[in-house]
Amino acid sequence: MIKNSIVGFARIGEQRELKFALEAFWSGKIDDDELRKRAKELRLKNLEYQRKAGIDLISVNDFSFYDGVLDMVVLLGAIPERFADISDELKLYFTMARGDEKRVAMEMTKWFNTNYHYIVPELSKSTHFTLNADKIIKEFNEAKELGINPKINLVGPLTFLSLSKSIDGSDVYEHLEAILKIYEQLLEQIALLDEKVFVQFDEPIIVTDLDKRQKNYLLKIYEKLSHVSPKLNLIVSSYFDYADKDTIEVLSSTKIWGIGLDFVHGRENLDNIKNIKDKYLMAGVIDGRNIWKNDINSTVQLLNKIALNVQKEHIIISTSCSLLHVPYSLKYEDRLDSEVKSWLSFVLEKLDEVSLTSRFFHSDTLLERDNAALEANAKANHSRKNSSKIYNSVLQERLKSFTNTQRATSFDERIKIQKDILKYPALATTTIGSFPQTDELRILRSSFKKGKISQDEYEDGIKKYIDECIRCQEEIGLDVLVHGEPERNDMVEYFGEQLNGYAFTQNGWVQSYGSRCVKPPLLFGDITRIKPMSVKWITYAQSRTPKIVKGMLTGPVTILNWSFVRDDLPKKDVAKQLALALNDEINDLQNADIKIIQVDEAAFKEGYPLRKSKKDEYEKWALEAFRLSVSSAKAQTQIHTHMCYSNFNDIIKTIEAMDADVISIETARAGNKILKIFKEVSYRQEIGPGIYDIHSPRIPSVEEMIDQIDALLKIFPKEQLWINPDCGLKTRKWNEVLPALENLVKAVKIVRGKKQP
Ligand code: GLN
Ligand code: ZN
Repeated sequence: MIKNSIVGFARIGEQRELKFALEAFWSGKIDDDELRKRAKELRLKNLEYQRKAGIDLISVNDFSFYDGVLDMVVLLGAIPERFADISDELKLYFTMARGDEKRVAMEMTKWFNTNYHYIVPELSKSTHFTLNADKIIKEFNEAKELGINPKINLVGPLTFLSLSKSIDGSDVYEHLEAILKIYEQLLEQIALLDEKVFVQFDEPIIVTDLDKRQKNYLLKIYEKLSHVSPKLNLIVSSYFDYADKDTIEVLSSTKIWGIGLDFVHGRENLDNIKNIKDKYLMAGVIDGRNIWKNDINSTVQLLNKIALNVQKEHIIISTSCSLLHVPYSLKYEDRLDSEVKSWLSFVLEKLDEVSLTSRFFHSDTLLERDNAALEANAKANHSRKNSSKIYNSVLQERLKSFTNTQRATSFDERIKIQKDILKYPALATTTIGSFPQTDELRILRSSFKKGKISQDEYEDGIKKYIDECIRCQEEIGLDVLVHGEPERNDMVEYFGEQLNGYAFTQNGWVQSYGSRCVKPPLLFGDITRIKPMSVKWITYAQSRTPKIVKGMLTGPVTILNWSFVRDDLPKKDVAKQLALALNDEINDLQNADIKIIQVDEAAFKEGYPLRKSKKDEYEKWALEAFRLSVSSAKAQTQIHTHMCYSNFNDIIKTIEAMDADVISIETARAGNKILKIFKEVSYRQEIGPGIYDIHSPRIPSVEEMIDQIDALLKIFPKEQLWINPDCGLKTRKWNEVLPALENLVKAVKIVRGKKQP
């Protein structure tokens, strides 16, 4: 009997081995064979961990060199035309992901409401699908050799199509028949692999508000696929929110074997499972999105409720989603406060939780060690609920009177005052904040942290970098400068480190995209600012130039969305605490004569709930938190904000209501079509749509940038437009950044010189 499973495993490696292997490969330090060898070692290790923890149904094909959706593009043979001439397998794969001198990379965007990014499949009438099952078969056999009976994970057809974009205006669902054929062929091949094979189709799209057509397709897809072979047990897996009643009914009416539902982020699923009939239920009860230790007692109560509607033998204890979204292991965390550490659980610890919960739930007799483990679990949860580390009464008092969300003057009045003081030209040029993070910088910061160099040595190093940044920007001729963010390892961690209520891991990495990882800090208690967080470096930078230097802060919603956040307080209350800290910071910055302050809300959009019914609530608190943060800004202080990868159509009213004086947005990969909405609503605040993609090493030419600016001028008047790259430059190298920015300034000069029609 299968008692437990997990949706998918983390893949970057417990010490980010995959990241380092990829980067070594990309820079030519290791070859194909070596990369493949290291990847295989990682996969085998992941399988071993799961087996050792007592996981019954272990996944394969949850590994990826870059991204699982891109793997599906390869599996289906849906290679966009501009890459078709590349014959080398790995070169083709990575060029699709990252672009090269000749080819723009495929678009990348956020995976549902996470900070993981997937590659967006491009479909057109000429897309021709052919099956390439090599990866799956190889990884299946690898597991078999270890004696493991694996479940094969892959993205299901409905999610794949729904996340694809059409590049010729055709309807993506026109490809349904064609890709279904490939999925069928794939299943036929898989059925040859063993007597019984489990296949998990990830269909997170079913937790969004599906329309009727999508529901029909869902039925069609799984009716068809569940008939391919009796040797296959198909599971349709969903996560991040609930699947509605209809959808569950649709799936239950097919011959699939199991359904995966998330009971942590979609409690509503409890009401909808009556109809799953004889299906197996992969019950996502261990949180795959957060790092708090599971409370096994209450989880078992939840499972008992589930068991009122689903027969117990059919309940498979599982994670709420893939463990891709949490760090690997607590075993390297020797600097965490021991009390805080006792409240946590990462990937490897979660495996034990899944295993223990399933033993507790599924068997009447428990081993002694299980009882001990259960007791320890209850104790840790009790300690967290009652810890004095969590509550700050002084803050609670201050919050009561912190209610003003309105700046004193309106945008129209403010912008006049600001333009008078700041005197920037039309098509003002700037950047989003960070400049390249060099090895030298990383070493400087880590040596300081480890106490290897003195405060003075550290500060001299940072100042030297700032001087260099300012000099380059002046030389290039940018209008509004930045200090370059050399003191920041990460835009959230940096602020978290200066706030009470936060804890930090040494090795808590989570994949963001490709080889990029982030290390979200842990927000465990009430938040208070200890002292000014950014004033020193911004004012230093300002003292080095007559030009205006823009201050850089990370906004409350982004800090929250990019942290692992306490789950014992509503998010809206946590956001308000962060807003108060930032409000104080903005006040300090303007008192230190900083005239422009950017409050980055890079992750504002990704925090949106997947269900429309939950959207209003999020918008309300997120908007309030941003407005509370900037409400201390005087009329003459220009507030900028920046957002990443956003499709603004459905949130344009909220963006307007944020009431920032200037917003810069990431549009370069998605093209100008997403800007139309700003025109449609007669958006009045100033705006800097990124004119080139900083995620690719490619340096765009002056001509390209001119075209891009000309296209923008068709939408916005020049007085409303700022010209900037589409995100921070920290991931790029100096030799990419300098020529790109030079081209940008040249392009602006040429456009300014042209007579406007
Ligand atoms: N100011 C930040 C930077 O430039 C913004 C980064 C982001 O939007 N992700 O790095
Ligand atoms: Zn950005």
